[in-house]
Amino acid sequence: GSSVEVDPGVEVDDEIAEDDLLGGLKIDSTEDIEVPDRLVDQVIGQDEARDIIIKAAKQRRHVMMIGSPGTGKSMLAKAMSQLLPKEELQDVLVYHNPDDGNEPKVRTVPAGKGEQIIDAHKEEARKRNQMRSILMWIIIAVIIGYAIISPVSPLLGILAAGIIWLIFRYTSRGTDAMVPNMIVNNGDKRTAPFEDATGAHAGALLGDVRHDPFQSGGMETPSHDRVEPGSIHKSNKGVLFVDEINTLDVRTQQKLMTAIQEGEFSITGQSERSSGAMVQTEPVPCDFVMIAAGNLDAMENMHPALRNRIKGYGYEVYMDDTIEDTPEMRRKYARFIAQEVERDGRLPHFTHEAVEELLLEAKRRSGRKNHLTLHFRSLGGLIRVAGDIARAEDRDLTTRDDVLQAKGRSRSIEQQLADDYIERRKDYELQVTEDGVEGRVNGLAVMGEDSGIMLPVMAEIAPAQGGGQVIATGKLQEMAEESVQNVSAIIKKFSDVDLSEKDIHIQFVQAGQQGVDGDSASITVATAVISALENIPVDQSIAMTGSLSVRGDVLPVGGVTHKIEAAAKAGCNTVIIPAANEQDVMIEDEYEEMIDIVPCSNISEVLDVALEGEPEKDSLLDRLKSITGTAFEQQSVG
Ligand code: ADP
Repeated sequence: GSSVEVDPGVEVDDEIAEDDLLGGLKIDSTEDIEVPDRLVDQVIGQDEARDIIIKAAKQRRHVMMIGSPGTGKSMLAKAMSQLLPKEELQDVLVYHNPDDGNEPKVRTVPAGKGEQIIDAHKEEARKRNQMRSILMWIIIAVIIGYAIISPVSPLLGILAAGIIWLIFRYTSRGTDAMVPNMIVNNGDKRTAPFEDATGAHAGALLGDVRHDPFQSGGMETPSHDRVEPGSIHKSNKGVLFVDEINTLDVRTQQKLMTAIQEGEFSITGQSERSSGAMVQTEPVPCDFVMIAAGNLDAMENMHPALRNRIKGYGYEVYMDDTIEDTPEMRRKYARFIAQEVERDGRLPHFTHEAVEELLLEAKRRSGRKNHLTLHFRSLGGLIRVAGDIARAEDRDLTTRDDVLQAKGRSRSIEQQLADDYIERRKDYELQVTEDGVEGRVNGLAVMGEDSGIMLPVMAEIAPAQGGGQVIATGKLQEMAEESVQNVSAIIKKFSDVDLSEKDIHIQFVQAGQQGVDGDSASITVATAVISALENIPVDQSIAMTGSLSVRGDVLPVGGVTHKIEAAAKAGCNTVIIPAANEQDVMIEDEYEEMIDIVPCSNISEVLDVALEGEPEKDSLLDRLKSITGTAFEQQSVG
């Protein structure tokens, strides 16, 4: 479609392009890659958002961008400012109003003119002051001369001269008041302005008038000189970008809406008790294109009227999180590294192998087969850490080793915690053991966004003290109840045990960890309960993740890649995952050899892999199959 031609000047080997990690790019290092000048051409992926930005720039429409952080929202907003015509840019001057000092006048002139006007005023003021001081010295000289030749005391003459001098000093401020205050200066701008007002307080966004501690008595700063523009004024004829727009308070959002409607907005002091609040300028132009950004949540929480306004007069676009992995895309990723290196200015370029390693990481972070992540900010972070390692050693190029080291260093807090936690556990008995254990299953969970941990679950069955109940520790009670409920439907079919007469205790060893999401542990709980019920041990070198349906299906869960890696790190040699998640597995080479991945689509398959002790296990599986066999078969086919 509208995509820009990549890698100008770099040869591509078409024969190997399909399988090559760099899409056949013939480079020694990223130094060989040319980076396009325009920001809009540097944007990778996000084709729809980019097309909209180009269109909206032509039509001067507002845009709402919804998506994850670090996927290029502010980059695109900035790119838009480069696409807007710069001929329309203006300078804005604020003048003293002789009729009402508290209502400064506002004048708009073509960009570059403002400077000339200020200079002319300064020159005039300088001349005026010069004339005044000449006049002053003449008067003083006359007074002193008169005092000397006349009989009056010379002292009195000096006194009079002093008074004259003071009067002149004092009133000279009046001439400064004539020089206007240029609040918007586009004189040396090469593109339309881009203003990032993310997290701005009211004054920074809407403009402010400074407080004057000397409000009277001739010492005061004239009010027009205390006027400060807001982002809405500085972005006049350009782009105003506001991320996380819902964090602006409601009153500010309302004012912002007025500014959008009117195209101009008076500046007044924002803090009520300051002298600035008495001042209100004439309207100041603020004819900007607004780009509001945030995640879906932020959009839903923003002021509805403001949202409608932007939506009604512009576009709404979703940012992609991943993109299909194609040779062309991989070549663009190589260019991304070149872009980041050049933007930073101090990092050594990346070798061919280092680029390959980063591409593997981009694949891995996508969490989807045949996709690459578009979370560029964190990828950029990795590039900077790797480059810094090379730079610290004064090397000319950043190598694959640096990237590998950087991956270790730039892990998220959660990942570091999870690793630390596995380390600590290795010191205690929580380690993976050789022997099978009844009722104990290694579950897997995700901590934060991107790190897995092993979370063993233990089930114990006891005769009920009254009605049978499920007793679980901590926050995971609800989840435990639900999975027991699901598994009891299955147990009813093959076992005589009436679960309603039993208390089932479920313990999440290590539960209570912050941020652990136990939602996907229901096959773990089910396996533990069945194992405890039937007294069949569970193989402890196995870990598992999966959600269980009432019919015994294993349903897909999130974060499989991280979970598999956690299982491998903890020393397991087999990991059970939902068959439906098979395509999401993107584990790193180092783990691939450490662990077998077994996709399962129903609970009997899970038990087949996880349980030990042949005679009992076989009999259980037979019973399961004889009773639920038809059901399972139908399910796995259908
Ligand atoms: P957002 O506004 O979505 O949070 P940014 O636009 O600030 O993200 O992205 C941060 C940095 O990551 C950018 O300055 C750029 O270097 C890089 N980046 C983000 N998205 C892209 C993209 N689609 N193409 C190229 N670089 C990107």
